[in-house]
Amino acid sequence: MSKGEWVMFDTHAHLADSRFDIDRAKVIDNAVQEGILGVVCICSDFEKLDVFYQLLDEYDFIYGAVGIHPHNASLQNKLKEKLHQALEKNKIVALGEIGLDYYYENSPRDIQKEVFQNQLALAKQRNLPVIIHSREAMKDTLDILQNEEIHHGVIHCFSGTEDDMRICLDMGLYISLAGPVTFPKASNLQNIAHLVPPGKLLVETDSPYLAPQSVRGKRNEPSFLKYTIQKVSSLRGVSPKEIGQITFQNARKLFCLF
Ligand SMILES: [Zn+2]
Repeated sequence: MSKGEWVMFDTHAHLADSRFDIDRAKVIDNAVQEGILGVVCICSDFEKLDVFYQLLDEYDFIYGAVGIHPHNASLQNKLKEKLHQALEKNKIVALGEIGLDYYYENSPRDIQKEVFQNQLALAKQRNLPVIIHSREAMKDTLDILQNEEIHHGVIHCFSGTEDDMRICLDMGLYISLAGPVTFPKASNLQNIAHLVPPGKLLVETDSPYLAPQSVRGKRNEPSFLKYTIQKVSSLRGVSPKEIGQITFQNARKLFCLF
């Protein structure tokens, strides 16, 4: 594939992560060469806010999202002020990632829920879409989203069931697929990839995590989004170009980039 053959929008990449410290500019150049025209850079590690702000300043196609990750929920009091400062910056297009993680459970569940709810309220106040992280916590995640009446956001790296997907769609949320949809045993996710209505489909890398099958085990980067798009397009029986185009338009709509 040469530059410009498809357009792509990576809705979730941690480009300020220290794993990119040695070659960040090169990684971004690779992304541009492959046709990436938009990236939402997520900053969950507030120690990296300076690098994050620099990326937003330097590259017009890189947008930002900040939020207190469920892993850090216990540090809410310490992080709250930094979050509020960050939300004042230009080019912040979403609040996230926020949510619940019962797999790692780095913070107690009740605190995770409280911090999640607080940030959903904040997002509504600020009229920002939310980027939701949910790992082994889908039921509680959906209950909270429904109670808070959230309609503007995306479930990042979706890993739920078909029923979960329908509940999200009923709320108006987007479903974002990441590298795991390319794994050979991911039949549930592949079914989801086939079923998501075109108007609600997004793709992401979650770089530097979750590299797709053909580069599995490597550090992931936005240019590898093409592998996920190729897989999703073959599952849906359409061209990669079409999936690139649809997901690009959907991302622009969700993050209000028109
Ligand atoms: Zn992430």
